[in-house]
Amino acid sequence: MDNPQEPITLAELQQTVDQWIKTIGVRYFSELTNIAVLMEEVGELARVFARTYGDQSFKKSDHAYNLSDEMADVLFVLVCLANQTGVDLQAAMRANLEKKTRRDISRHRDNPKLHQPNKDQVDSSNPGELQ
Ligand SMILES: [Mg+2]
Repeated sequence: MDNPQEPITLAELQQTVDQWIKTIGVRYFSELTNIAVLMEEVGELARVFARTYGDQSFKKSDHAYNLSDEMADVLFVLVCLANQTGVDLQAAMRANLEKKTRRDISRHRDNPKLHQPNKDQVDSSNPGELQ
């Protein structure tokens, strides 16, 4: 992960986070602490969504939050938990996508609701605006 322009695999991310924890972070928080921290971070992400795409407005104190950073916070703690519990996220994601593909090969394609425009879809070129 020396070149920030290069894509990073999940395996590399797990290694990078592990190195960070063992040097900068000293050691992992307990698994129970980290699952609580994960919930906190998901809450912070939900707060950004509620204020950016939902009906709530930002308070002055909310402006420190940003979507990409909150997603990275969630991913970081999830990677910590994977490292602590011996989960290979790369293998897990491959298996998960294969499972979803087998299960949903025609399910979504055959769902008439998905062939209608999504009124709640956010235009990613104009965040905060619904299409
Ligand atoms: Mg956060």
